Amino acid sequence: MTLPIYLDNNATTPVDARVLEAMLPYFAENFGNPASVSHLPGDHAAEAVELARRQLAEVLGGRANEIVFTSGATESINLAIKGVARANAEEGKHIIACLTEHMAVLDTCAYLEQNGFEITYLPVGGHGLIDLDRLEAGIRPDTILVSIMAANNETGVLQPIDEIGRICRSKHVPFHTDATQAVGKIPIDVDRMQIDLLSCSAHKIYGPKGVGALFIRKFGPRVRCEPIIHGGGHEGGFRSGTLNVPGIVGLAKAAQLATDELPREAARLTSLRDRLVGGLQADLDEVHLNGHPTKCLPNTANLCFAWVEGESLLQGLATLAASTGSACSGANNKTSHVLKAMSIPDLLAKTAIRFSLGRFNTAEEIEYTIGAVAEQVRRLRRVSPIDELRTMMMKNTNQRGIIHT
Ligand SMILES: *Cc1c(COP(=O)(O)O)cnc(C)c1O
Repeated sequence: MTLPIYLDNNATTPVDARVLEAMLPYFAENFGNPASVSHLPGDHAAEAVELARRQLAEVLGGRANEIVFTSGATESINLAIKGVARANAEEGKHIIACLTEHMAVLDTCAYLEQNGFEITYLPVGGHGLIDLDRLEAGIRPDTILVSIMAANNETGVLQPIDEIGRICRSKHVPFHTDATQAVGKIPIDVDRMQIDLLSCSAHKIYGPKGVGALFIRKFGPRVRCEPIIHGGGHEGGFRSGTLNVPGIVGLAKAAQLATDELPREAARLTSLRDRLVGGLQADLDEVHLNGHPTKCLPNTANLCFAWVEGESLLQGLATLAASTGSACSGANNKTSHVLKAMSIPDLLAKTAIRFSLGRFNTAEEIEYTIGAVAEQVRRLRRVSPIDELRTMMMKNTNQRGIIHT
């Protein structure tokens, strides 16, 4: 067992050896520019990119010419939301999103709000799910896009994508889903689920960082979307710039591997995750699971350890690499907007830890984790009498390291 044990796979994953192997020839040996169609090196690169496009379309369920390669999910999301907003602004300026979206969606929506668009942010219930009746009632004649994530990065909660797709299609409103955490972890089919735009990223599924894709529906119905990056007209004009050939090859390979291994890996991760949660709840009092008990990714467990500040718990656990929330909200020590939207009180939300398991975690590592976390929680709860801590945390919930000794 190598330490630290990596339980932060929703933040990023290591590149799988099979993905790396597929990418290697495209750095130095086959280095051509796929836009150079007048010679062999260019042709070879173009062939590799087109094969990757077909592979990714097969994984997502669309057609190859509906895939646009990008620098990652953040760019895909920006292209989907800003691109559809700008292309359809004459039809209307209303967009529906959800309060628990990733910051890539929320910040893009906030930008559009400053530029004359109106955003409705759907609330979620205690389990993190949106209310479909509210979505349906929220769609107006001037609604030009609905953007709801498939799987939440902090809690693993799965939104009812099929039903959202059905509602949006019946109202003739394009549906974008941030499926960065869903692709390769749960079955996805853009046609069956009536998804019109889908964002994904390689580095969350054992591919390289800095590459992703956006599915933009062309057939039944065609989505109108404008580029946000201009110059050269690559990717059917949707995304100019010389293609990241090794990255694209890696993304397709990673998506294909994850999808091929999905049923077996989902079962394995569910069992490891359930053991982790069950073990911690058996060893400790007041361990709460945040999110939905069953409508959840197989790999994610977001747990509150009452009376123990999450940051302090992680600081005391050098042998574990987990996080208090998303990689971005982890840095500024703000209470998670996702847990807040789920009406989890601030005091409890500050005690949350996200364990996100992955392909390379073993049963032995999970047993070690249960022991290490339980011991540290008990120690911190002992050194900080609960009443004293409660008073301190209520007085100043922003103070770091409240019970760090
Ligand atoms: C990681 C993540 C993103 C951002 O992806 P990048 O490829 O790192 O830009 C967006 N949405 C969700 C749900 C994520 O987990």
